[in-house]
Amino acid sequence: MAYQGFLEQKPGFSTSAIHSGQEKLEGVEPVVQPIVTAATFKLSEPGVVDKIYYGRCGNPNRYSLERCLATLEGGKHGFAFASGHGAMMTIFSLLSNGDHILSCDDIYAGTAHLFNEVIIRMGIEVTFADFTKVENVEKAIKTNTKMVWIETPTNPMLKVIDIATVIKSVKKHEDIMVGVDNTFLTSYFQKPLDFGADIVMYSLTKFMNGHSDVVMGGAVVNDDKIAERLTSLQMFVGAVPSPIDCYLVSRGLKTLALRMEQHKKTSLIIANWLLTHENVIDVLHPGLPTHPQHEIAKRQVSGHSGIFSFKHSGGLEQSKKFLCSLKIFILAVSLGGYESLAQLPYTMTHSALSEEKRAEFGITDSLIRLSVGLEDPEDLISDLDQALKAAFA
Ligand SMILES: *Cc1c(COP(=O)(O)O)cnc(C)c1O
Repeated sequence: MAYQGFLEQKPGFSTSAIHSGQEKLEGVEPVVQPIVTAATFKLSEPGVVDKIYYGRCGNPNRYSLERCLATLEGGKHGFAFASGHGAMMTIFSLLSNGDHILSCDDIYAGTAHLFNEVIIRMGIEVTFADFTKVENVEKAIKTNTKMVWIETPTNPMLKVIDIATVIKSVKKHEDIMVGVDNTFLTSYFQKPLDFGADIVMYSLTKFMNGHSDVVMGGAVVNDDKIAERLTSLQMFVGAVPSPIDCYLVSRGLKTLALRMEQHKKTSLIIANWLLTHENVIDVLHPGLPTHPQHEIAKRQVSGHSGIFSFKHSGGLEQSKKFLCSLKIFILAVSLGGYESLAQLPYTMTHSALSEEKRAEFGITDSLIRLSVGLEDPEDLISDLDQALKAAFA
């Protein structure tokens, strides 16, 4: 209809803007998967749901990533979530009011918050034990234990938990699922399903994506029944990732092996260099023969990532000076990207723990956690060297 004497608008403009050019392009086969951002999908018949129909319930980019995650882990079913926390929240939703989760003690601080602030308020009991001694696990299992949660290596102390031994002792009891947080090593270096784990979980935010530009979580399981329940819970809890993020993580995975090999090499070079430094009193790296669980590590992993910690001979002041003097390592939380990061768990990631808990775990004000990235090892060493010099000047 004409507007106050102006030219007449041709009909159908908005309909065309919405529908024109939306047909599939026949004969086009992109080498890289197109990103499908659709929140809803056309159905063939009312009431017949035989394909992807709604973005929360399924998406082509998510499905591709989930298949790849399952394959890399050597499992049957893969799941992607909006974050590592989204993955854990969905996994813990497998349990009910009155159930008990037994978790290892030296875990990712966010996981501890999730247990203590959310899960226990749902009427699920959570207790913690040091899993490096299997008798602690045995003692802590209760009649209502339904899940055992393992994170290895632990954060930030890099303790290695013997997955096979813990699982053997847990599986003497019926109906206890074992979940393993595989964020630190990824499916490239550690395959918990091979040792009998029921659920492998990752923060894909870290090494799996590897580029510090996505927050996402994942899980892989073998058991069809657990997979069926997780498929429903993924939909009901709704912590699903965006298609663009799925695309980015799929891209990251293509270089996972190359990146992990380099993280391993560089982190060992740096760990060995730190061992000889006059101001360093301890280096916690499972790849070093001096590590207390080095032999267990050799039995259960094929390598190590860029994550490790060290203690210097100073205190809080030296830690601050050291971290603020770094020029290549960035003072930041998180880990697993191509860029090197350094942080002080005592006042940063683990500051919410009580003074006694931090002391018990060995998280002192001189414990520095590094995430060694993919820069040239010589440059990283020079950077650490000058920052240690500045700290102890
Ligand atoms: C980061 C991290 C998580 C949480 O993942 P988000 O993606 O931040 O939600 C869980 N476990 C470990 C070991 C992590 O490093």
